[in-house]
Amino acid sequence: PNKSRVTVVGSGNWGSVAAKLIASNTLKLTSFHDEVRMWVFEEENVKYLPGIKLGQNVVADPDLEHAVRDANMLVFVTPHQFMKGICERLVGKIREDAEAISLIKGMEVKMEGPCMISTLITQQLRINCCVLMGANIANEIAVEKFSEATVGYRENKEIAEKWVRLFSTHYFMVSACEDVEGVELCGTLKNVVAIAAGFVDGLEMGNNTKAAIMRMGLREMKAFSKLLFSSVKDSTFFESCGVADLITTCLGGRNRKCAEAFARNGGKRSFDELEAEMLQGQKLQGVSTAKEVYEVLRHRGWLELFPLFTTVHEICIGRLPPTAIVEYSQS
Ligand code: NAD
Ligand code: 13P
Repeated sequence: PNKSRVTVVGSGNWGSVAAKLIASNTLKLTSFHDEVRMWVFEEENVKYLPGIKLGQNVVADPDLEHAVRDANMLVFVTPHQFMKGICERLVGKIREDAEAISLIKGMEVKMEGPCMISTLITQQLRINCCVLMGANIANEIAVEKFSEATVGYRENKEIAEKWVRLFSTHYFMVSACEDVEGVELCGTLKNVVAIAAGFVDGLEMGNNTKAAIMRMGLREMKAFSKLLFSSVKDSTFFESCGVADLITTCLGGRNRKCAEAFARNGGKRSFDELEAEMLQGQKLQGVSTAKEVYEVLRHRGWLELFPLFTTVHEICIGRLPPTAIVEYSQS
């Protein structure tokens, strides 16, 4: 009776791996239907993870409305800039008893102020939304190398535990944390620090400088999160979603990689150009997040409190040279 049905909205690099994790569990857990539906924006979905099998129970569906229609567990995992449009298309199309989780790192900035993606989902679709963030470079999880992740939730521990069961495998260890804003802000803001770390790599500044940038970045992540939401807990920054994700992204992520190329070219080639050339369809989140964070800081008069976040944006738009990333910290 009443088995849960899962749909994954998104089929990029991480979306595909998330579907693989989930599909291995729905086969084993009797409380879930075996089939996992995955909405694919492009009909052809092999280019992100060549050679990785997602599971025969993953069914790709190019029709968004059809893909979500029967699901009571919705997993959102698209680049953050597409979520506003996707939510608009989903209004009135999903089950009333649906629960959601967002794996998306990023935020929207509206006239009224910043809006986290889980909040966008909750407000537009009128459903509860947890988040899952962590040190999770998708290509490594695709080949089943061990990692950890954090589910952030608000009040309802039972639903958080259901998401933990749906994602956990022997190589993917998930724990729940009652701090949805803190978890989501960690995942979002570390992408800005990863851009800074990439600049340092491109300038060949070495490990000490990179560690200094990561430390300053972590401090700004915490300060910004707490200014936005006083409920954010210090302990969240020690979970996988916090310091661990910061480390892995600054060492091996796509934001770091493109920012390194940007700095090597002295800022002469744009991020759009580098993203298209180096990522072939995958999307950077850090450059637009830096802009979104900057807008919040400017509106609230906080720019001077966040020199690293501010400098990253100003380098990205060409107002400052990449070398400014180390100069500001010495002043
Ligand atoms: P991705 O970077 O691979 O993005 C490509 C996806 O975007 C493709 O599925 C493509 O079809 C889709 N797309 C392109 N244009 C679109 C449009 N107009 N509308 C809707 N979809 C469109 O995606 P990803 O790596 O799965 O990242 C999704 C989210 O997960 C991001 O917020 C990212 O930060 C986060 N994340 C990624 C990783 C990772 O290692 N890749 C790890 C953790 C979290
Ligand atoms: P990148 O988008 O920089 O590759 O970061 C992936 C990530 O979020 C790892 O947890």
